Parts: sequence; structure tokens; C-alpha cells
Amino acid sequence: MTIREIISYLESVAPPSYQEAYDNAGLILGHPETIIESALLTLDVTEAVIDEAIETGCKLIIAHHPILFKGIKRINGHTYVERCIIKAIKNDIAIYAAHTNLDSVQGGVNSKICEKIGLTNLAILSPAKEQLVKLVTFVPEGHLEKVRESLFSIGAGAIGKYNNSSFTGEGIGTFLAGADSNPFVGEIGEIHFEKESRIEIILPKYLKNSAIDALLESHPYEEVSYDIYPLENSLQDVGSGMIGELAGAEQEIDFLQRIIQIFGSKSIKHTYLLGKPIRKVAVCGGSGSFLLPHAIAAKADIFITADMKYHDFFDAEEKIVIADIGHYESEQFTKELFYEILIKKFPNFALRLSEVKTNPVLYLCEQ
Ligand SMILES: [Zn+2]
Repeated sequence: MTIREIISYLESVAPPSYQEAYDNAGLILGHPETIIESALLTLDVTEAVIDEAIETGCKLIIAHHPILFKGIKRINGHTYVERCIIKAIKNDIAIYAAHTNLDSVQGGVNSKICEKIGLTNLAILSPAKEQLVKLVTFVPEGHLEKVRESLFSIGAGAIGKYNNSSFTGEGIGTFLAGADSNPFVGEIGEIHFEKESRIEIILPKYLKNSAIDALLESHPYEEVSYDIYPLENSLQDVGSGMIGELAGAEQEIDFLQRIIQIFGSKSIKHTYLLGKPIRKVAVCGGSGSFLLPHAIAAKADIFITADMKYHDFFDAEEKIVIADIGHYESEQFTKELFYEILIKKFPNFALRLSEVKTNPVLYLCEQ
């Protein structure tokens, strides 16, 4: 199995274009054509995780958090990041990260958290903007089906639970074929009027190049006329955070105790309880303070996240309970998620869940 085969499948589940602008998800270290026999799945890459990969013979580490996040100008072993890179290179270990792109998709990090809590009716808390485009093209009679099918085959026209969505209208196209042209219909040097169908189809931006390839391949004209428009529509199935419902209402304190059990949190930092039962729960694995207004607007009773700052807690304004359960704790099931995604596609490939507890945060509790 090559690294490319593994990551191209992972990226069909969590397309890299869904990562945030600040992120660095993707193949961080290593060559995609390298043949590998096993992969180590982890939340973080640390020196202990690299050691584990060496000991277990895993030549690929698949992590949630990218080990390289910003520019690095020297690699001389002064920081743990540099030491990890040096050790990985010396031992031919590749490192791949699926980070905010895996946070953003249905079936990603936040879906896993919702599943652990037992939430249903899941929806994205803040759907992604500027991720959709519309392709419009014009096709002569007799070629409509072929072009439309070819666009559907690469995934264009998917809206929520519906596939193959498009609109077709009829009209007249005009063109004047130039001296060196080889027109499919009409004569060189004469203006031509052709009965054409206009196809409109919506698609995520990351499929744009595949859609253009599919269009050019299936369209009979020498020069294919098409337009691509950016859309302001949100992509409902992709975005930040998630909201879901409990099967039945739970008392706040009982719910928080259950969260401690599920996530193994040593402590939960939370705002004042409101004396209301918990039904709707918003979640965001890792640093989720930016989603607090969305959680309030979605009328969640509680927001489960991490890395909340002192002043963020004031913003709850008695409209919601904020529970900061710890960054590692909230995302710890991500390696399990990698396993579940990959094992379905590659049932015979050796996948190993890292046994290193990478959480750098410890808790000293008052006795
Ligand atoms: Zn994180």
C-alpha cells in the first residue's frame, strides 16, 4: 500500500480544502509513493509517539494535530518539534495530519464526540461559507445526458441528502468559427445558431477542477463555453462545531458527571448552572470559544468544548452553560475515528492506535 492510497481515501472523507486558513493539514513529512505496511494513529505527534512508531515498525503516523504548524527556519533539535522531525526523517517515518478538515465534516471529530455523548439529530453549528460554486454550461441537442451524467459522476449536484441536482433550460447559442477552427457544427467563417441546453449545477469548490475535466471530456465542442460562479450559500454539511439532542432530558449535574465519565476529565471548568434540564448540546472538539455565539443562537442548553479563557465564561450571560472539558479530553477519540474510517476501506491493512497518552496538561486537585 502506498501512502498516497491511504491519504487519498482519508481526503475523500475530509477534503483538505475544508481546513481553516491558518491550518497545515496534509502530508507534512514523507513521499506519497512510499510503500508502507502499517500506520500509527494518534492525536498528537510527540517524541514518544515517534519512538512507538520505530518500535512497532510503522512508517506512517496519522495525527490530528499537525506537528509543523508555522514556518520553521532551522532544525537543530532545540524544540520537541525539531527533534520529532529529525527522528522521523532518520527513521524514514512519514507524518500526515487531518486537522480542521476532519473537524469540519459530518462523520468527523465533532460527530465522534456527539456519538460518545449519545446525541442524535446532528447538525453543523456554523456551516461553512464560500465553499460552493455553480457551473453553468451550454450543450447541443443529443449530448445533454452525457454531459450531465459525467458531471454527476464526479459528485457535482449533491445538495444535502439529494444527489444529481441540476437545472436545464433551452435556448439558442451563437458562434462564428475562426479560420483555424474545427467546428463540431456550422461552417468556418459563418455565424452559426445552435439549439442548446443550458445546464446549471452546484458543486463544492474543491471539485471544480474535476468538474471542468469531466465537462471537457464529455462535451462535443472544440471550445466549450462554461461559467463558474462563487455562491454565498453555506454548505450545510460542512463547518465548525456540531449540535445534537439527547434521547431524554438530563439534570445539569447528572449530565456533567456523565461527561466526566465519558471523557475521563479530571476536572471540568463550567459556568453557573441554570437549573434547567439539558436537552440540546453543542460541541466543539479543541478550542471552541469562537462558536459560543452560534451555540447560544442555536438554543443549546450546554456547550461542551475546551480552551475557554476567563472572559469567555462571562459571555455565557446565563443563556447557556459552558463546560470546558480539556482539549486532549475532547479530542482523544480522534485516533479511534481514524481507525473506523480506514478499516472500512482497508480491512487488511495494519492500523495501530497509539498507546502514548500525549496530553501535556496534568491536574492537581485539592484533597
Ligand atoms: Zn485540537
